[in-house]
Amino acid sequence: MTSPELTGPDALGGLALARATVDRVTRRRTDREWIEAAWKDPRTRVLVVREGQALVRDDGLVFVSPEEAPAGTRFLLGEDPDGVVYFGVSGPLGSASEPGVRVASLREVGALLSDRDAGLLTHAVALANWHDTHVRCPLDGSVTVPDPAGHSAVCPTDGSEHFPRTDPAVIMLVTDPEDRCLLARNAAWPGRRVSILAGFVEPGESAEQAVIREVAEETGITVTNVRYVGSQPWPMPRSLMLGFRADAPAGQAITVDHDELAEARWWSRADLLAALQARELALPPSVSIARHIIEAWYGGPLPSTWTPPR
Ligand SMILES: [Zn+2]
Repeated sequence: MTSPELTGPDALGGLALARATVDRVTRRRTDREWIEAAWKDPRTRVLVVREGQALVRDDGLVFVSPEEAPAGTRFLLGEDPDGVVYFGVSGPLGSASEPGVRVASLREVGALLSDRDAGLLTHAVALANWHDTHVRCPLDGSVTVPDPAGHSAVCPTDGSEHFPRTDPAVIMLVTDPEDRCLLARNAAWPGRRVSILAGFVEPGESAEQAVIREVAEETGITVTNVRYVGSQPWPMPRSLMLGFRADAPAGQAITVDHDELAEARWWSRADLLAALQARELALPPSVSIARHIIEAWYGGPLPSTWTPPR
């Protein structure tokens, strides 16, 4: 069975971390007066994040007023259609002792949140991760000063300006001439977990070149017809996952790189479904682009998931 292949922005549908409804108001980032007025506005909502986590309740993220926000690096997230401004603060989370309030990571709740909250938490976690790990100028070691909107930082000694970092990574579903897909188990994953192949784009390399290189390195398979299917941010700590499909021409044997993978093999749709139903295999969670790419190839939802480590 070969399903017609979808391409374009709707090919994967509803990627959990690629949702947002709040305008990033980039034009306001240099407007110190507007930012300070927004910070004084009691309608302003502040999302506190620490180490990729935030406070949540059943109906979404827990926000505080600027007055209630803890000390910490502040950054402007955006403004919604009602004129409510959102900031993030990287600082200690408040108390989770209120009934129904708990601490949760983006991985855990990214697929459960509303479009607005998923977008805000993804944006906030990405910026907080950058601020938390890039506190000094890489040229002379001076402690840098974030700009008023928290979207860049300046070195007070040499004036160099530094911007948040995003590391591109490719993730690809490879099929053979029988339209079976290549799934692998990472050596670091326990038990039955499998996924499609992935790896970082290297300096001076295109995303398509990275797909070809990573598949060859990890499995010895040479791929052709590399095509883009969609992307989503994965700020854990700072990746952008670029999704691809690729074809493996006939007559190739899999040679697993055992430094990275425990095993890799071809799966037909029927065999994969049977293995999942028998709980012999488990797939990545729906928050991941991997799950969406696998289900787009399969032609619909698949059973089984695994809970990733935090
Ligand atoms: Zn410097």
